[in-house]
Amino acid sequence: MSDASRLRIAVQKSGRLSDDSIALLKAIGIKLQIRDRLLIAHSTNQPVDLLRVRDDDIPGLVMDGVVDLGFIGQNELEEKMLERQASNRPYAFKTLRELDYGGCRLSIAVPNEMSYDSVQSLQGKKVATTYPYLLERFFESNNVNASAVMLTGSVEVAPRAGVADAICDLVSTGATLEANGLQEKDEVFVSRAVLIQSAKPLSDEKQELINRLLPRIDGVTQAKESKYIMLHAPKAYLEQVKSLLPGAENPTVLPLASSDDIVAVHVVSPETLFWETMEKLKALGCSSILVMPIEKMMG
Ligand code: ATP
Ligand code: MG
Repeated sequence: MSDASRLRIAVQKSGRLSDDSIALLKAIGIKLQIRDRLLIAHSTNQPVDLLRVRDDDIPGLVMDGVVDLGFIGQNELEEKMLERQASNRPYAFKTLRELDYGGCRLSIAVPNEMSYDSVQSLQGKKVATTYPYLLERFFESNNVNASAVMLTGSVEVAPRAGVADAICDLVSTGATLEANGLQEKDEVFVSRAVLIQSAKPLSDEKQELINRLLPRIDGVTQAKESKYIMLHAPKAYLEQVKSLLPGAENPTVLPLASSDDIVAVHVVSPETLFWETMEKLKALGCSSILVMPIEKMMG
């Protein structure tokens, strides 16, 4: 049995959310030794245990307070909430952060040869999906009388197999749909990964640890979106240079030992520099223009 004083975090064992969730935990300073077959992984430097499960189980584990935190796609979370609401079971949780991975959409797709003008074209049809509650809600809000056929896998082959007329499935690039002769028609739900916490009050120690980890998540996310930009600029054109650099109201300007007319400019920018901007900087007489990734940020 694991120690109840340790923070329990549920992550998908193996799938599209696993690598990014584990990478994020490592980036915020939680050392983990994951053995492929084991359900539990203990952190070696923090009072944290990872529970590695199927993603379908994560919302329920958080809602029941079996784990304290969970990394999960909003699609699974919303589906579980609707399922629990329908059967009067507890479904409370807190969303701590929306994350920058796991982006996808739950969409209606129909065979290329089926005519489809609007959702109304689904009237009286059968639609295969792994998300019957989200789909039923979509039908209801559009006043469509259609039925959801629940399939836990291979949803995209349902029309060809004669099991359904259309499908409602997760899409990111659309390549799977195309490979199966299907066309995306309507968006039912837009999703990304989120970090959620159980609604149950936690011990002070656990809550303090969570409160310390959240700014680290923000720091990692911000760092991914930001760049450290360094360049040499002619002193005379400093104002023009600043106006070309995104987010550079207050750059660090340093003298160069070798020259009185040229200064070094350093700036943390919320976006990268485009080649066009770099060319403009060069035309102003700038040189040694470097754009570098940032690993961590704070304050
Ligand atoms: P498990 O065995 O854990 O139940 P799974 O097959 O249900 O795995 P995955 O295919 O690994 O799940 O997808 C997990 C989550 O990743 C999805 O619920 C969704 O939130 C997100 N996701 C992002 N892009 C896609 C995509 N193109 N297709 C499916 N899921 C995606
Ligand atoms: Mg699943």
